[in-house]
Amino acid sequence: MYKLIPLLLLTLAPLHAQLSVLCTTRDLADIASRIGGNAVRVEAMATGAQDPHRILAKPSGLLKLRRADVLIEMGLDLEHAWLPALLENAANERIAPGQPGFINASDGITPLEVPTTVDRSRGTDVHPRGNPHYNLDPEGGRTIARNIAKGLALVKPELKATLDANLRSFEADLDAKLKEWAPHFARLKGAKFVVRHGWFPYLAQRAGFTVIADLEPMAGLEPSPAHVAAVMDLIRREKPAALLVPPWKQDGITKRVASETGVRVLALPVGCTNDAPYATWLSWMDHLISALAAAVPEPAK
Ligand SMILES: [Zn+2]
Repeated sequence: MYKLIPLLLLTLAPLHAQLSVLCTTRDLADIASRIGGNAVRVEAMATGAQDPHRILAKPSGLLKLRRADVLIEMGLDLEHAWLPALLENAANERIAPGQPGFINASDGITPLEVPTTVDRSRGTDVHPRGNPHYNLDPEGGRTIARNIAKGLALVKPELKATLDANLRSFEADLDAKLKEWAPHFARLKGAKFVVRHGWFPYLAQRAGFTVIADLEPMAGLEPSPAHVAAVMDLIRREKPAALLVPPWKQDGITKRVASETGVRVLALPVGCTNDAPYATWLSWMDHLISALAAAVPEPAK
């Protein structure tokens, strides 16, 4: 019987050796699964169908933080409203900021729209250190993947070769998609959109489209009737390709703007979700970029 024990331990070893990786968003979780492969067990705290600024910190979230070997955050203060307090509560040294088990996926991103002053009364507090939505950009995904590979290798140096190989495979897939997306970017160049919240500055810069107005006068602030009226005037004048809203903002304001101006509304997840066709970061980007391009009229011949 005792001879069986070492065998049993060997069989169980790979499972126990898996790192428990907790991610604040599904985008991070999907990319972490690609990079970590079988060496990681990944969970996400929110999907792209939820507002990442308002992730509800459930009691189960605290338990997950207590168990995790690694925590991956989007950074740029996307999680500033809820994560620091929860982390302090969890008191898990492995994932405390500054420890190898705390990975900030935004390392190396140059933030856009950095405010010069922070005035909480006007709503800038949801983007206090600039725009954190770099996951809506192909190159943002590459940065996330590289930071995760680097961070996991610090936690478990023996995984480095595997992580590097998985990173190369992810980047090869991304590069192939970038080639596929080139015609979409060509179509989007110079196109105009109106948005509801600043999800798109990174993608707009990459693809060359312009966001001519935001129904939020400042990040996180609901519009006044006067602001809505001004945006509707602009829509009538400039005829943007679409009004882009996240799934949870198909409300009275969006409907009114659509019915009074005739603008097309595109409601798209702002990160990957649990469901096809948005279930991986790459497949979600694929749908997002294709949908934006499809909204732009064919150039006149
Ligand atoms: Zn935001």
